[in-house]
Amino acid sequence: MTVANLLELDRDALAVFCEQLGEKRFRATQLFRWIHQKGAADFTQMSDLAKSLRDKLAGRATISAMPLISEQASSDGTIKWLFDVGAGNAVETVFIPEDDRGTLCISSQAGCAVGCRFCSTGHQGFSRNLTTGEIIAQLWFAEHHLRRRLNLPDNQREGAGADKRVITNVVMMGMGEPLQNYAALVPALRMMLDDHGYGLSRRRVTVSTSGVVPMIARLRDDCPVALAVSLHAPDDALRDDLVPLNRKYPLAELLATCKHYLTKAPRDFITFEYCMLAGVNDSDAQARELLALVAASGVSCKFNLIPFNPFPESGLKRSLNERVTSFLRVLQDGGVVATVRKTRGDDIDAACGQLAGEVQDRTNAKARMTRAPVQVHRSGSAVAEAIKAGRAGRQETAQ
Ligand code: SF4
Repeated sequence: MTVANLLELDRDALAVFCEQLGEKRFRATQLFRWIHQKGAADFTQMSDLAKSLRDKLAGRATISAMPLISEQASSDGTIKWLFDVGAGNAVETVFIPEDDRGTLCISSQAGCAVGCRFCSTGHQGFSRNLTTGEIIAQLWFAEHHLRRRLNLPDNQREGAGADKRVITNVVMMGMGEPLQNYAALVPALRMMLDDHGYGLSRRRVTVSTSGVVPMIARLRDDCPVALAVSLHAPDDALRDDLVPLNRKYPLAELLATCKHYLTKAPRDFITFEYCMLAGVNDSDAQARELLALVAASGVSCKFNLIPFNPFPESGLKRSLNERVTSFLRVLQDGGVVATVRKTRGDDIDAACGQLAGEVQDRTNAKARMTRAPVQVHRSGSAVAEAIKAGRAGRQETAQ
């Protein structure tokens, strides 16, 4: 007999499981609340469930998160956890506390197959997708672990709710490309949004993608949440090099899909992430090209400029602060909302692009990513012109 890990099941799937046990579907809601709102891992604690059901569950189900390997705390309050996901793989989860919110950065894969040049995870290669249970277990663990640590009200108590949440925001920005693990991602998102689970608003759950165009379109219909897109370049030639997925889904297609996404999105803008790389994508001219690009696309957006966190294999350098400030000013003067991301957890390698975990690579990433230096292309205007003229698809830029 297989033993089901109930962390794998959203409420609908849990209802089916209850029926298979010969129980009424509504038992699923009670069970779901015990697991996700109260953090229970032991069926004997579930005092409002009939003893006969608790006995059945004890033999056929479990509530198991991944083993914790380590916890590191930064001087700025950021906490990074490393979880064992088996076969020599480990993934990282980061909690970022701020005055008015607590954000959890969650991993979706052991490694990543996209291979962005500036990303430490990408350089580690790819091992496997995480399951729904492994994705939601990061939130389940963090929320209840921190509640206990902060001595928040005892949520194991019957009737205690989820009103004192520690984690108010989730960003799918840890290890992995979440939209390349779509089937596991969507039930996990539903559990985050479920009022009987974590009850997070769609506006406070963000999926960050390097631009998997068909899956952005599906997410719009299946489970629209806030969307962040890793842009990093104003033209296809440079983006091909920095974000290899661009060769498959070039900027014109990506931006058209972003515009379509906004018709159902919970926020009225897309966040464009832009990692600032010295001498590669950080000139004022490139900022102006970005302005032209987004104006031509008609995508309502905000820019988030990310200071690069250098690591030796990348061969890339962080832009100087003055350069970032100048780039920011060009965007803002052009009428676009733009901010510079505050670096958090730097001292424990928990900042953006630094998550590496442990990955048994199956994709030969090291050889794949040992390439010539990034080519700097001086004109991205061809893409903007093409979008304006309604010509989607790749447009070669002049070099
Ligand atoms: S930035 Fe995201 S998509 Fe790119 S390699 Fe890193 S984890 Fe993968």
